[in-house]
Amino acid sequence: MNTKTFGGGKKPSERPSKICPVCQKPFAWRKKWARDWENVIYCSEKCKKTRA
Ligand SMILES: [Zn+2]
Repeated sequence: MNTKTFGGGKKPSERPSKICPVCQKPFAWRKKWARDWENVIYCSEKCKKTRA
């Protein structure tokens, strides 16, 4: 059993999520972040700019 595998074909509810520090809203993993999820901090470009 390998539970560390990060598969993209799982149920949406099994996808990871984070809380955006700007708008305080949870946002879920997105396909476009597949390679960069560890570095994703903000839910959107808008929040990213707001923070800066
Ligand atoms: Zn946000």
